[in-house]
Amino acid sequence: MARPYNFSAGPAAMPEAVLQIAASEMLDWHGSGMSVMEMSHRGKEFGAICTQAEAAFRTLLSIPEHFHILFMQGGGLAENAIVPMNLSRGTIADFVITGSWSAKSQKEAQRYCKANVAATNADAQHTRLPDPATWQLTQGASYVHVCSNETIHGVEFQELPDLAALGSDAPLAIDFSSHVASRPVDWRRVGLAFGGAQKNLGPAGLTIVVVRDDLLGRALEICPSAFNYKTVADNQSMFNTPPTWGIYVAGLTFQWLLQQTEDGRQGVEAMENRNIAKARLLYDFIDASDFYENRVAVDCRSRMNVPFFLRDERRNEAFLAGARNAGLLQLKGHKSVGGMRASIYNAMPMAGVQALVHYMREFERSHA
Ligand code: PMP
Repeated sequence: MARPYNFSAGPAAMPEAVLQIAASEMLDWHGSGMSVMEMSHRGKEFGAICTQAEAAFRTLLSIPEHFHILFMQGGGLAENAIVPMNLSRGTIADFVITGSWSAKSQKEAQRYCKANVAATNADAQHTRLPDPATWQLTQGASYVHVCSNETIHGVEFQELPDLAALGSDAPLAIDFSSHVASRPVDWRRVGLAFGGAQKNLGPAGLTIVVVRDDLLGRALEICPSAFNYKTVADNQSMFNTPPTWGIYVAGLTFQWLLQQTEDGRQGVEAMENRNIAKARLLYDFIDASDFYENRVAVDCRSRMNVPFFLRDERRNEAFLAGARNAGLLQLKGHKSVGGMRASIYNAMPMAGVQALVHYMREFERSHA
């Protein structure tokens, strides 16, 4: 039986093929007699799983050799403390506020450094990104933080800021939790990237950090050893027990992503093409309708998280109930924004977005 389409913002839908492999290997991974969950993280079996996952992620996102890939725990919110503990030196860091997640990052960083708000879109209710030319960057800042895709407000940087061109020599730190591997990353513009795996990569519990070599070894004295990037890097993410199951499933997802093809493209470029087409279908439908609306500026819209509203909000409950009956799950918007949100990550096939648009059209027809 076909599974429903799941539009959860995260933990989110996984590629079915990945779930099937994980299921088939659940009791006995490759003749080892063990489930991956039962293996020592220091054994040769898990060592191979981890090395392959890291190499596949590097290939998938074309991560240059002078960046370390770290598999950690704690999620995006722990990184809001871990990044300033590792990069700020207790001095100043700049934050660009574009929605809930970057706002949380700035707030948490205040415990460890002076967290300057260089720009904010709060006056526009987080519906458009502040133009980089207007950012008030601090000379000599230890780093500049942006959330490159705001999961709740549905705004996404279509291009990462070029800090050097803005007159700053600070490294850029990006929270790419909710669009990692949905599009290529321009690593020339990035010093550090972090993200929880539970949206685009795998189960909750794994956090991936990609950090440029020269940014290691700056941690504050108070930084816990298990969260010191240099310690984690020096120990190949095995300073303490890493989230072994998460690394394994994410590794299967990386293989799946590498195999995807679309219009003659492969891997993350194929995913980008597919994600553009999926997002266009949904936004075009919403924009053409008088029944639904999306309030985000067109050039700032997220390809991954599409918040939308029924113009008559009294129909929200009926919309959600009908959606569940039609096999379209978890469409309720975040409580801080209201309305609906369709998260259409890598694992959401075009057919899922088509089914959603079909349902929305039918619902409009019977309720308009
Ligand atoms: N950053 C972003 C962009 C997110 O979407 C989320 C989770 N929704 C977080 C951070 C927080 O992640 P976690 O719950 O793993 O701490």
